[in-house]
Amino acid sequence: MIPTSARAISTAQTPDWRAQAACLSRDPELWFPRSSTGPVSVQAAEAKAICRACPVALICATWAIEQRVQHGIYGGLDETQRRTIARKATRHDLARAGLAVEVRAEWARDIRDPLVEVYLRSSVQDDGGHVWWRGRKTSYSVAGRVLTPGQIAYELGHGRAPSGHVKAMCGQPFCVAAEHLADGLDRWQRDHATAA
Ligand code: SF4
Ligand SMILES: [Zn+2]
Repeated sequence: MIPTSARAISTAQTPDWRAQAACLSRDPELWFPRSSTGPVSVQAAEAKAICRACPVALICATWAIEQRVQHGIYGGLDETQRRTIARKATRHDLARAGLAVEVRAEWARDIRDPLVEVYLRSSVQDDGGHVWWRGRKTSYSVAGRVLTPGQIAYELGHGRAPSGHVKAMCGQPFCVAAEHLADGLDRWQRDHATAA
């Protein structure tokens, strides 16, 4: 996501690529997930998907790597991915063309995560923050496991497989927004905390 300061620069000095950014009209929060380390979050996956369809993704990614931008998703890459590429670039004295190759390799790695792929292909978020499953199946075979849409969304968003039944707690029983979902353990912990 292009930060406000960079947007100001964009109009003043370099109006070219930033004016085409797919994130300009979107909620910036999406590009700053609470956690971008460990298992990929649903939020990060969504931001990265928008980046990958953005016409200036490659320029944005190399810009963020060269500028050593610390936080957020740029050009479809989170900070850990950018740091990895930056270290490689220093070690091997990579020119910009070499950086582009590394960026594309990271994109390919993300897409190969089968959970991310199924989730991105089959879900859509509405303006209220709920996520709807538009895939027709009630369960999916993913890397040798059979998972429901709720289980897929929960695992991506919470970084672990759910324990027991996954339920939407937002009042929309069919919502699969990861942050609206709770598994049996979450509900038990919540009830336990309320009772204590
Ligand atoms: S690649 Fe992503 S962060 Fe960069 S301009 Fe496009 S949508 Fe925004
Ligand atoms: Zn919801």
